[in-house]
Amino acid sequence: MRVIVVGGGVLGTMHAWHAIERGHEVVHIEREREARGASVRNFGLVWVGGRAGGDELESALRARELWERIAADVPGTGFRPAGSLTVCRGAEEVAVAEAALTLPDAAERGLKLLTAGEAREHNPALRGAFDAALWCERDGAVESRVALPALRAHLAATGRYTWLPGREVRDLLASGTGVRDDHGDTHEGDLVMLCTGAWLTGLVRELAPALPVRRVRLQMMQTDPLDERLTTAVADGDSFRYYPAYASPALDALVAARPQAPVPTEHRMQLLMVQRLDGGLTIGDTHEYDEPFAFDVDSAPYGHLVEVAEALLGRPLPTIRRRWAGVYAQTVDTTRVVHREEVAPATWLVTGPGGRGMTCSPAIAERTANLAGL
Ligand SMILES: Cc1cc2nc3c(=O)[nH]c(=O)nc-3n(C[C@H](O)[C@H](O)[C@H](O)COP(=O)(O)OP(=O)(O)OC[C@H]3O[C@@H](n4cnc5c(N)ncnc54)[C@H](O)[C@@H]3O)c2cc1C
Repeated sequence: MRVIVVGGGVLGTMHAWHAIERGHEVVHIEREREARGASVRNFGLVWVGGRAGGDELESALRARELWERIAADVPGTGFRPAGSLTVCRGAEEVAVAEAALTLPDAAERGLKLLTAGEAREHNPALRGAFDAALWCERDGAVESRVALPALRAHLAATGRYTWLPGREVRDLLASGTGVRDDHGDTHEGDLVMLCTGAWLTGLVRELAPALPVRRVRLQMMQTDPLDERLTTAVADGDSFRYYPAYASPALDALVAARPQAPVPTEHRMQLLMVQRLDGGLTIGDTHEYDEPFAFDVDSAPYGHLVEVAEALLGRPLPTIRRRWAGVYAQTVDTTRVVHREEVAPATWLVTGPGGRGMTCSPAIAERTANLAGL
């Protein structure tokens, strides 16, 4: 088959990957000169530990397996099975971690509660004061800014993959399966996969006017290289408030006993921190749900992130080199991992993986490929 994939983010690239793996031909069209959406603005965390049990966890575990397999062929993805530590400060946060260990699938997630000393054996850079840490062995990271070009180079080597950047897809073809771009060129195929991220207007609105998807904006930053390894990804106890696996009476007690301070409350914050291959730390995040979104980044959340990161590391952070914001699309149906809809014959729209798109994209694309009969 000839498959037309629209959208050069991680979801589009993984759809292209599975089509090529199954022996098909792919034409991959991206509006920008290079991917510039959520997929290059994220942490690159392959985050399994906090996923909701059932389909979401299965998808994350399968994706984790696929990332590892893909990285064996494409080392440029920078996949590393580094695990994560969610650092607990105070008895209430430790209680939430303890509750997570009683989940029926705690072993599949690779969860273990560590003392502060044991946590430092995994990650000696954590010299700050804390009481315990929830270790998640299944978490990992990829290098999101370079993974997509590396994957495309691998696909191009098959001779069955064509990358067409700088072309916005405007229409589906009225006669047969395919798309028309804003250069006036048409691309015909047997199947179209629209992986257009958080761009919900234009063609997407025309095809699916009542899409059950909302948009979320996040603020992030990156430091100069740290002069030592941060051997695991790191989260703070506020992250318990954001991941569905941690819902429990212990979490309710934490929320009641320890409301977040005004800045993290206003910006709906948690701390996630991961070291890039160049040594810099990517640190975030905030969550903004109400549109219109700000067009500039707000300074107050950065002050909070610096404070928490320095408290966990027990030392000053290197200079902050970059600050940015990103927007992802998130399905509002909490029973689904993604919104996947056949919007026209042999034409699939796949969007709304939310804050788990970098993690789950290999598994999401695999499922689309199965459903579409690739
Ligand atoms: C700040 C931030 C941090 C995050 N951290 C993580 C994380 O650590 N782990 C995790 O699992 N997830 C994370 N996420 C979520 C994850 O990044 C997204 O779910 C994922 O990147 C979505 O991929 P995508 O390919 O659907 O979208 P995108 O990466 O946005 O790609 C969509 C592409 O489609 C193109 N496009 C749109 N319309 C057209 C058109 N008409 N014609 C041609 N091209 C078009 C766009 O230009 C864009 O390049 C984070 C998201 C953000 C914003």
